[in-house]
Amino acid sequence: MIFVMMGPQACGKGTQGRMLSAALGIPLVTNGELLRNLSDTHPYKKLISSQMNKGELVDQKFVAQIIKDRISKPDCANGYILDGWMRKDIDLDYFYPPLDYVILITLPREESLKRISGRRVCDLDGKTVNILTQDPEEFEYCDGHLSQRPDDNENAVNRRLDIFYTDTMHVINQFKAKNKVIEVSGLGTPEEVFSRIEEQLVKKGVPLQ
Ligand SMILES: [Zn+2]
Repeated sequence: MIFVMMGPQACGKGTQGRMLSAALGIPLVTNGELLRNLSDTHPYKKLISSQMNKGELVDQKFVAQIIKDRISKPDCANGYILDGWMRKDIDLDYFYPPLDYVILITLPREESLKRISGRRVCDLDGKTVNILTQDPEEFEYCDGHLSQRPDDNENAVNRRLDIFYTDTMHVINQFKAKNKVIEVSGLGTPEEVFSRIEEQLVKKGVPLQ
């Protein structure tokens, strides 16, 4: 089966995507990871690296092709889970995933802002931690200095959330009209959120491992 993870910033869709991948035994295909892990000999490597380094959005036409190449691999034969695709209508012109369900994780705007305000990056090992939601023992052992990423400031986050609630919701609503959206609240622990997803999948008759 084919799924697409969707939701506003900090809703936890990456974590839920990994949990769903383990439960269904199908790979999670994340745009960001695909782009970061492009081999040096990939025909788009130069172009995409230069767009990413300049902080520009990577051309979706190329991203679509990279996703299509990835999902044609044998491990995707029984299905896959996309994360990071179809944030805007135009994505669908380049690649319209033959999806079974969109998994939409909702989160109040204030909660997105709150979660992101706790996000810090370590200058020593590059790890991202959350000082509001994580146990300090998980990051205080490191001598690195934690700082906020420039694009995690409130204005920048609000701009990204505006795009989600307009452009991305427009895409999601098209799939809602086709009865292809499984919507769960992103509040609570990852395990609580995942049990909501599981419950909906069971209702739809999706076999879980
Ligand atoms: Zn560190």
